Amino acid sequence: MNLLALPAFSDNYIWMLHDGRSAVVVDPGDAAPVQQALESLGLVLAGILVTHHHPDHVGGVDELRPLLQGPVHGPARERIPMPFVPHADGDVVEVLGLRFAVMDVPGHTAGHIAYRQLDADRAPLLFCGDTLFSGGCGRLFEGTPAQMSASLARLAALPDDTRVCCTHEYTLSNLRFAAAVEPANEALAEYTRHCSALREAGEPTLPSTIAQERRINPFLRCSEPAVVAAARAQGAANDEPVAVFAALREWKNRFR
Ligand code: ZN
Ligand code: FE
Repeated sequence: MNLLALPAFSDNYIWMLHDGRSAVVVDPGDAAPVQQALESLGLVLAGILVTHHHPDHVGGVDELRPLLQGPVHGPARERIPMPFVPHADGDVVEVLGLRFAVMDVPGHTAGHIAYRQLDADRAPLLFCGDTLFSGGCGRLFEGTPAQMSASLARLAALPDDTRVCCTHEYTLSNLRFAAAVEPANEALAEYTRHCSALREAGEPTLPSTIAQERRINPFLRCSEPAVVAAARAQGAANDEPVAVFAALREWKNRFR
């Protein structure tokens, strides 16, 4: 199975899985890059997975529908272009012979879902939309800090080698913020050098892994003493992970 990150807009990736004949795409905000990839690789579009309702994730769905030879899967609790198969936590979606479990991960939007691959011997895929980014997390447009930190905790508990396929190339700017939170984190400095080199070579920094995110992503490190201290200095009400998370998210919103 091949995994491609198709660049779209200024910083989106449309993830494409294909087996040389059939393809599935995740969050096609724009149809054009998908059509180009299908044509140049000679693939049939066998399905679409959608994580949430934002236009940069669903904007290409209707234009791709005439090419589509399978269903659109999407979040049961959100409005996305109809028709689609609605999914909620615990559902299993099968595409290209692979099985994915649906996880409810509210926070960025109220009904946001993620898809994690089942039955993989190693390096299972995770399509997490705008919930978890490398070095960061999505903004809280519709959810509360408690919801988002619970969603991120569930993702952080997935296997270490899980491939984290996020929808935006926000890594380097997230890492600048992460360094402000944890200036003494060695793994973070190392990962920043690695990602800078990738970007200079024009490569995506993604997918990341859950193990890597646990080492460097401040939003998954809300119990680390250094992160707690930094959040308290930015006004966190107490040392509890949700209060730490809320303070970090607010700080990031105004961080330049
Ligand atoms: Zn979004
Ligand atoms: Fe987005």
